[in-house]
Amino acid sequence: MTKLSCPLCEMDDIAEHETLLECMVCGHEWERELEATEVKDAYGNVLEDGDIVQMIKDKKLTGTSKVLKSGMKSKGIRLHPDSDHPISCKMDGLSIGLKPQFVKKVVKA
Ligand SMILES: [Zn+2]
Repeated sequence: MTKLSCPLCEMDDIAEHETLLECMVCGHEWERELEATEVKDAYGNVLEDGDIVQMIKDKKLTGTSKVLKSGMKSKGIRLHPDSDHPISCKMDGLSIGLKPQFVKKVVKA
């Protein structure tokens, strides 16, 4: 991993916050670059751990007689960006892996 350094003063005394990096020398703050690959829903919204997603089409579960119906909502999702089914969640009481093109993010009220 490359050592962080401030883009302004080039010092490497950097405080790491959740979404920001802060230079302890000159006080400059900038956004962290997210290393993980983004997972996007069918409409291009970026999904995050803990989001709720909703099916946008019926999808039969492979190997079962269960069908996930369009409009069905998940519990909070977990993302595995490197996986073939990068969204894991519970839906209708089942633990399932989903592809992002079958879901849309539910915008929290
Ligand atoms: Zn600096």
